[in-house]
Amino acid sequence: MSSFINSKIVTVLVGPDEVEYYFHKDILVDSCPFFAKCLSVNMEEHLANIVRMPEDTTRAFHLLTLHLYGKTIPALTHMLNVLDNIEAWILADKLCMPHFQDILMARMMRYTEYNYIFPGYLADPSIVLNPDSILGKFLRDQVIHDMARAAGTLSGAVYSGMSEETWDGLLGNGVVDSRMILDLVTAAKSTPVNPSKQGCKYHVHGTTGVCMVPN
Ligand SMILES: [Zn+2]
Repeated sequence: MSSFINSKIVTVLVGPDEVEYYFHKDILVDSCPFFAKCLSVNMEEHLANIVRMPEDTTRAFHLLTLHLYGKTIPALTHMLNVLDNIEAWILADKLCMPHFQDILMARMMRYTEYNYIFPGYLADPSIVLNPDSILGKFLRDQVIHDMARAAGTLSGAVYSGMSEETWDGLLGNGVVDSRMILDLVTAAKSTPVNPSKQGCKYHVHGTTGVCMVPN
C-alpha cells in the first residue's frame, strides 16, 4: 500500500451521467486485470488515463473503492443494500476480480442467513442477471429456499402478496425461469438446504482454486 503514493491518477467515469471517480493507477492495475488491460500502453485509455464505464453504477463503484483501498465494507442491513451488493458482484465479474466477488457473496450470505431475499426488489429492471452465473444460481436457490421456508408462516405473505407485475419483472430480467419452477416443485417435496450455509458452492475462487473468504 505504500508504493502507490507516487502513482498516476486515473479518472473513471461511471454510469450514463459520467460521475467521476479517481484511483491510483498502480492500485487499479495491480488489483484488477480489466483495468490492467485497458490501461496498457497500446490502449487509448492509457494516454488519457480516463476510463468510461457507462453501464455500471456508482453504488457498485462505491463498494469497489472500499475494497481497493482496504476499507471495511459494512454488513448488509436492508434489501436495498443487497441490490447494491448484487450490482457490485456483477461489476467484479466484469473486472475479473474473483476474490472481491467472493467477499460480496459472503456478505450476502451473512444477510440471508437471517433475512429473506424479497423478490419484489429483484424484479427491478436494473437487475439483469445471467441465470447461469454463480450469482444467478445463488439468488434462485435462495428465493426457492425462502419460499419453501415461508410457506404457511406470516412471512409467506411476502410471496402470496406479490403482484402479477412483480412476477413479470422477475421473468423479464432472468431471476425466475422454467428451471426455477422445476426446482421449486422439488423443494416443496423436501427440506431444501439453506444456500447461505453452503459458502464455497457459490464462491468463484479464481485461478488458484483456494478459498480466500472465511465461511
Ligand atoms: Zn470458498
